[in-house]
Amino acid sequence: MIGHDDTDRAPAQRVDPMPTIDPAAGLDPTLLNAARVAKGFMPDDEGLALAKAALEVASLGPLLEIGTYCGKSSLYLAGPAREAGTVVFTIDHHHGSEEMQAGWEHHDSSLIDEHTGRMDSSVEFRRTIADAGVSDVVIGIIGDSPKVARHWNTPLSLVFIDGAHSYEPALADYLGWSPHVVPGGYLVFHDVFEDPDLGGQGPWQVYCEAISSGVFSPVRTVGSMRILVRSDGPTR
Ligand code: SAH
Ligand code: MG
Repeated sequence: MIGHDDTDRAPAQRVDPMPTIDPAAGLDPTLLNAARVAKGFMPDDEGLALAKAALEVASLGPLLEIGTYCGKSSLYLAGPAREAGTVVFTIDHHHGSEEMQAGWEHHDSSLIDEHTGRMDSSVEFRRTIADAGVSDVVIGIIGDSPKVARHWNTPLSLVFIDGAHSYEPALADYLGWSPHVVPGGYLVFHDVFEDPDLGGQGPWQVYCEAISSGVFSPVRTVGSMRILVRSDGPTR
């Protein structure tokens, strides 16, 4: 009934039980569910740790992620960004890392672009973001991370490094992006495995360099997610 004033109506009954979430994570149940079901490589406890970290610092400026893939981790960042009135930049060339190519462990043949014959996760990313209703908050940047970093000049409250995982590219992401983290802001690494039996050593080696720089100090660790805070003076 158009124009009907229903303000005195009893509040609608809640049909579905609300999932138990850490309210500090800044994700409403719909967005949390979208993040959980999205294609990608982000265990829920680590995604929630990322969201909580984002919520703690997002008032300091925009968030930036390296390694969009299909937008799963972007959703964990989107809730806190919206709550703080800021945005998430997420960078990927969308052609996948080495282990995502045909014949490798994490290959997904549904992500092959028939036009080019190459992997392309950008369409799935846009669907993930649109279906979750966060296209206004999540801004995709298509390109090579170190190249984008060379042209970047906006201070960031949080940089999340989850791109290529061997030492050289992970180091390039760290060197290119960490100077843009504001004092008090966070630098977050994913897939950090101290024990070589559990995973590749690239992110671990770069994490150690970040700590020994004296610029970043550990805040907390959840699974393979390591959260560091920038504790020195002004950004570059
Ligand atoms: N965060 C994602 C997973 C990222 S997987 C999730 O939550 O599921 C790593 C991604 O990094 C891949 O999509 C790959 O294309 C991207 N990547 C690797 N090297 C890159 C580079 N030099 N520049 C931009 N993106 C890169
Ligand atoms: Mg990862």
